[in-house]
Amino acid sequence: MKFGGTSVGTIERIKAVADQVKAVVDAGHQVAVVVSAMSGTTNQLVQWTREAGAMHDAREYDVVVSSGEQVTVGLLAIALQNIGVEARSWLGWQVAMHTDNIHGGARIESIDTEAMLARLEQGQVAVMAGFQGVAEDNRITTLGRGGSDTSAVALAAALGADRCDIYTDVDGVYTTDPRIVPKATKLDKITFEEMLELASNGAKVLQTRSVAMAMRHGVKLQVLSSFEDLPGTMVVNEDEIMEKNSVSGIAYSVDEAKVTLVGLDDKPGVAANVFSTLADNNVNVDMIVQTAASAPGKTDITFSVNGAELDRASTVLQGIKDELNYNDLLTSEDVCKVSVVGMAMRSQPGVARTMFSTLAEKGINIEVISTSEIKISVLIGREYTELAVRSLHTAFGLDSES
Ligand code: ASP
Ligand code: MG
Repeated sequence: MKFGGTSVGTIERIKAVADQVKAVVDAGHQVAVVVSAMSGTTNQLVQWTREAGAMHDAREYDVVVSSGEQVTVGLLAIALQNIGVEARSWLGWQVAMHTDNIHGGARIESIDTEAMLARLEQGQVAVMAGFQGVAEDNRITTLGRGGSDTSAVALAAALGADRCDIYTDVDGVYTTDPRIVPKATKLDKITFEEMLELASNGAKVLQTRSVAMAMRHGVKLQVLSSFEDLPGTMVVNEDEIMEKNSVSGIAYSVDEAKVTLVGLDDKPGVAANVFSTLADNNVNVDMIVQTAASAPGKTDITFSVNGAELDRASTVLQGIKDELNYNDLLTSEDVCKVSVVGMAMRSQPGVARTMFSTLAEKGINIEVISTSEIKISVLIGREYTELAVRSLHTAFGLDSES
């Protein structure tokens, strides 16, 4: 059972979580719980590391930002003990959750489960701190923001758990963000592949890495509410779903920025030069289009990057302006990526047509397009985000009846 920040945001909430854990223990299960820090805590801790020193050592950043989870595991263990449930807290190094030494974004390498399994056998609930691990040199690491979902899935895989239940402040995975489309519908089931596309294209419900890990290790994943006792959404293999819709969900991300290089030489090696320079500087490029420019022998390349990486991208490209011989570098942050995702689009024609004609009817211009086997993404003006998501939701027949 994994509980996120809002689920353990107050002492009252932590007591409510203890009751939920007790109910599962009483039903005869062995339970390992993974918790996040209280909501808002990690942001505050990150802020403090910045204030203490803009150029700080990432090892010390991890010492500070991992501390939020130390508080919640202790509090939840106390709350459980107080209602008669045997429980013990586990920090990352105590488990141990071994990671590499990429501080602030560490990857899990292995998990020692022997000690925890022995305690579970004795009927003790294990309450593990999410988001943190330990590197080979014994320093504390963190897994990157939102990392406690990944901690939970990794622990479930290592323990050979029957299921990994992610309790959160929404009651499942919806066809799109219910805050902007009130007619969004809760899905009973979704495939790992679809969940991965939705998460990596802006759906906030699960950390992308946790879904990839669940898929790799075959961990049965359920997303459900920690506030209401309702069935959630099961993330499952494709053969467990009878598909109906060509599109299962729509995601959007305003975390995007667009870069256009105008008037590049149209000759072999130019794109290679652009994108290897960006890669060397750790800029992740997402969507790409190349078009013929008005002048002969010239071409334009437009691509999208994460908003936070825009400055870096434009600085490095300006640095090689002479080498690349382009006319102009244009950037914009007023963009949004909207993606429609569905396994069934592999076998159902017409998804692109529906998507593009719906946007055209609303007068929304498409700036960049990219596709995968089960997804079509478009980059559009940010002011059209809600309109686009809402009209696509209707066009693909996803609106709820009520
Ligand atoms: N507390 C960490 C964060 O806010 C990890 C998590 O909540 O998943 O990023
Ligand atoms: Mg989270």
